[in-house]
Amino acid sequence: MKKILFVSSEAHPLIKTGGLADVSGSLPKALNELSQSIHLLLPNYQGLQLTEPVYHRCMIYVDNCEIHILETKLPNSHVTVWLVDYPPFFNFPGNPYSDEHGNPWPNNLERFTLFCKVATEIAMDRSHLEWKPDIVHCNDWQTALVPALLSLENNRPATVFTIHNLAYQGLFPAEKYATLNLPKQLWHPDGLEFYGMLSLIKGGLVYADHITTVSPSYALEIQTPEFGYGLEGLLHYKQDMLSGIINGIDTDIWNPETDKHIPQHYNSDNLSDKKANKIALQKRLFLPIDKDIPIFGLISRLVEQKGIDLVLECLPQMLALPIQFVLLGSGDHDFEHRLHNLTLLYPDKISVSLGYDESLAHLIEAGVDIFMMPSRFEPCGLNQLYSQRYGTIPIVRKTGGLADTIEDALPESLANNTATGIAFHDANADSLIEAIKRSLILFHDKSHWKKLQRNCMKKDLSWRNSAAQYLSLYEEL
Ligand code: ADP
Repeated sequence: MKKILFVSSEAHPLIKTGGLADVSGSLPKALNELSQSIHLLLPNYQGLQLTEPVYHRCMIYVDNCEIHILETKLPNSHVTVWLVDYPPFFNFPGNPYSDEHGNPWPNNLERFTLFCKVATEIAMDRSHLEWKPDIVHCNDWQTALVPALLSLENNRPATVFTIHNLAYQGLFPAEKYATLNLPKQLWHPDGLEFYGMLSLIKGGLVYADHITTVSPSYALEIQTPEFGYGLEGLLHYKQDMLSGIINGIDTDIWNPETDKHIPQHYNSDNLSDKKANKIALQKRLFLPIDKDIPIFGLISRLVEQKGIDLVLECLPQMLALPIQFVLLGSGDHDFEHRLHNLTLLYPDKISVSLGYDESLAHLIEAGVDIFMMPSRFEPCGLNQLYSQRYGTIPIVRKTGGLADTIEDALPESLANNTATGIAFHDANADSLIEAIKRSLILFHDKSHWKKLQRNCMKKDLSWRNSAAQYLSLYEEL
């Protein structure tokens, strides 16, 4: 049995802004089910949705700050969660990275530096918790100082650093370094310095014993200038200790047979029942009720990465076809504004819900026929996995985890029952429109469509395989 400290800045269902929370909420659960002793470490944000009792475990001083470690459970699991309680940094409304109006917290650097220092104290068993991990698994830039700090310790646990999205690196002005009371040994171009900036993610990339990304394709892509943001050289140099492990999904939460957010449960043997969810979705979003019209769905952060600009370019052409389109998301104000304007032009064909709504996300997955993910890059992507489980056919751009998890519907893959979606190559509106048209031809060919749905729904998308891969990595280290 391995003792694992899993350090993250968000975890579903406690707090979530994106896919990182899904992984941090479900991978520890899967590892726990593989009989590993795993503790999840999070900041004690005001916005945590706590449902289990919370206990006080201990108090430590770090940088003269009085820190309390609280303990609770990850809901619906046996995973112990430790919360780093420091009210001056974390007891505010808003999300982990920004305030209620979407402005990044001005002290994000100080907040996550302190969080990493506390994680290091826990990892070295200097925090009165009387538990020393064998492995410390860190995730994204918010936790990346932990491998760097641990690299300076004797008799330390092994470290794994997972890149969920290299586009977010935790870059701050270099002058800040001197204010953080961090060791001088880490400050040089082969350390945390990055072209005159302080790069927190380099703490994970340079100092972790092993780096993972969330898909094998993305592990290769980030070694190229197009996806590497100047870090491709470092990542290529470290290729022997860099690997890709595809994300699993929480199959209890995302299960069309039991989902508490959808009015009609179904499985691959009674796919016609899925239509009741389509009607419920149309009612909820005030779209004309029509059980036969193909509905396209999209749930996403509204940022360029996700190809929202391509969708906007395609929408006038798309909406000239006999279809409906529903979108749920929030992000870039310009995208939000342009999408809202389209709803005024085509109120009978398109519904745009701006904001974050978990229950609507489930109803969309169950109610739509086709799910769009035309991402410019995608480390893994989760919605194409949820879609497959709900018999909703994904249209994806062939990149990163989308390329690794969706098999394009071509004559051969349809014949041998491996097809699971529609994939296109080029990040432009013409290619996307062509993929949309291909999906409609398939949609109207009922036997092929059902086959595609069944291929998707029979796939094992659970954490079983991927958690075992993480475990064998831990064992190797
Ligand atoms: P990323 O982490 O880059 O945002 P992923 O596909 O890995 O993208 O994960 C996104 C997660 O966030 C999915 O679980 C998706 O359903 C969810 N999500 C994104 N936007 C919203 C929203 N507006 N409302 C509800 N869930 C959302």
